[in-house]
Amino acid sequence: MPERTAEPARPAGPAGEPELKHLQSAVDDFVGPEQAESWDLAGEIPLELLRDFGARGLLCAQLPSAHGGLGLGSLDSGRLTAHVGSRCSSLRSVMTSQGMAAWTIQRLGDPAQTAELLPQLAGGRLAAVGFSETEAGSDLSSMATRIERAGDTVVLDGHKVWVTGAHYADLLVVFGTCEGGAAAVVVPASAPGVHVERVADPLGCRAAGHANVRFDSVRLPASSVLGSPGAPLALLVTTALAYGRISVAWGCVGILRACRNAAARHADSRTQSGKPLAEHQLVARHLAELLVAEQVAERACEHASECWSAGSPELVVATVLAKHVAAGNAARGASSAVQVLASAGSRDGHVVARAYRDAKLMEIIEGSNEICQLILAQHAVATAE
Ligand code: FAD
Repeated sequence: MPERTAEPARPAGPAGEPELKHLQSAVDDFVGPEQAESWDLAGEIPLELLRDFGARGLLCAQLPSAHGGLGLGSLDSGRLTAHVGSRCSSLRSVMTSQGMAAWTIQRLGDPAQTAELLPQLAGGRLAAVGFSETEAGSDLSSMATRIERAGDTVVLDGHKVWVTGAHYADLLVVFGTCEGGAAAVVVPASAPGVHVERVADPLGCRAAGHANVRFDSVRLPASSVLGSPGAPLALLVTTALAYGRISVAWGCVGILRACRNAAARHADSRTQSGKPLAEHQLVARHLAELLVAEQVAERACEHASECWSAGSPELVVATVLAKHVAAGNAARGASSAVQVLASAGSRDGHVVARAYRDAKLMEIIEGSNEICQLILAQHAVATAE
């Protein structure tokens, strides 16, 4: 295990901002190749380590310093996310969930809610976000979870599935129908009526703590509802997903980087038929394609982050585009990397084997390939000249 420094990941850079390089090396103190492999094989990240990682602000680094966060801009936060993704997609997935929960509370919560909850998330309390249900996957408008007022309380009933990080979470941000529209509610995982059951043996991101969560008449103070109840569901969900999509896309850049490095190192060092693999043209093509895939995905992510920082009306399309490009490139790139390493990468836990399984899931979450294509096609029609 790499030696861990006791120093918090919050030193001031020259401009008072945390420095990206320092944050990346703080990540490296937590997760090296052996940890990522052993967490994947065990299907678990040690909880005290996750809390420690979170308490250094690394799980939601974009949270403003006024709320106790590191206050990174979207671009630096994305680069940090890519760095984590290059090490371990399970940890990056937990990071995406924490960041999405923090952003949803920041965006939808009132001043009292943000003042109470955000410093907790910046300080290492863990959070996850539940939208999906068995009958509401791509079509979230079929959501059946109900949030109903009862005096000065609300009662939550429903069943969310595949919630990343829910196995570890202290808090769950849950979306449901409410007062003719929708609402998001913050639920302590320990509240009576909350039942968390792990998803058994997920294909990838095996240590990300995916769980199905049932809410049986969970009674909460009315102040647990973020913002005004009865808002349009699409508006609430788009708010959370915009963050989630950029974060997943940057994570895919990290997967591609890990795959390019592993494939290039192997192709350079292994000789077959009298010369290094990298000098066989069909292998060299895989390396070139991996480099292109990573660079293209990174440019799409940078554009999305710039739209985020500028508050651009292009943001939704830019995040969908980045997520779609990066996830597809990561899935194809990871497959190429396994091809280049062949038997050397064909064992459970190996960086390219993990990437192969993890990247496939990136084509499903936060809007599947097909849903992204539908959104992009609508944009193509709407902007046709
Ligand atoms: P379905 O919606 O049943 O789709 C099945 C297939 O049909 C897909 O290929 C889809 O693209 C296609 N399809 C569906 N509708 C259309 C259409 N209109 N046009 C064209 N094609 C269509 N959920 C959460 O709430 N929180 C989480 O943290 C979370 N994390 C996840 C992590 C992982 C690893 C996975 C696998 C899932 C996670 N999910 C989470 C759930 C995820 O959001 C859903 O799996 C996703 O929205 C797809 O829904 P579904 O699986 O029900 O597939």
